[in-house]
Amino acid sequence: MAHAIKFHPSTALLEQFAEGCLTADVSLALAAHIDLCPHCQQLSQDITNDLAGQFVEQRVTTSSTDWDAMLNSVLAQTEQTSMKPIANAVTSSNALQSIMVSQREFKLPRALQRLSASHGKWLHLGGIATATLPTSSDHHVSLLYISKGTEVPQHTHLGLEMTLVLSGKIVDENGEYHAGDLLINSPDDTHTPRTLPDEDCLCLSVLSAPLQFKKGLTRLLNPLQQFFF
Ligand SMILES: [Zn+2]
Repeated sequence: MAHAIKFHPSTALLEQFAEGCLTADVSLALAAHIDLCPHCQQLSQDITNDLAGQFVEQRVTTSSTDWDAMLNSVLAQTEQTSMKPIANAVTSSNALQSIMVSQREFKLPRALQRLSASHGKWLHLGGIATATLPTSSDHHVSLLYISKGTEVPQHTHLGLEMTLVLSGKIVDENGEYHAGDLLINSPDDTHTPRTLPDEDCLCLSVLSAPLQFKKGLTRLLNPLQQFFF
């Protein structure tokens, strides 16, 4: 049975997404969540419609000598028009890309399909495997596979940690997260994510800074830090 998605991005974040103010990597995590979440699809659509309405109002009240604004709007329109055939091509090809890891096949949300085709080599450590996705910023973006009954050592975050569950389930001290759930952890949130004994998990992970592991000797955990970033 499919579980309802419980962890969504805030409306403020969805607004910034629609306005295009987020970095490419944070946008990617949001776009992938929206692919999986009918609730946020509807909300994003409403936000986009509101923005379009505001834009039309602004244009009506703008004097005709505002050449920059006019040029920008023309350029924006050209870009949108020329994007359309590409978007249609993607839809009509209907190629749902999937990914293989540890002899398991996972289907990916549309937003991740193109990028994940050029993912890095899978690195394995214990029951965990990670493959980086190419990124244009200094964020670290990766696919993270956690096999059943595996615990990621307790850590805190030096920056932002976004985790989108793509398949399966993870639990930590704060709750249980199913496919589509988006977890956003900020510095000082400490948690120990783990899978349950009967189900593995694939996530998209976006990190703005390395994780900081809390238990054991820091120098022993150093390789772990590099593994995740
Ligand atoms: Zn949502």
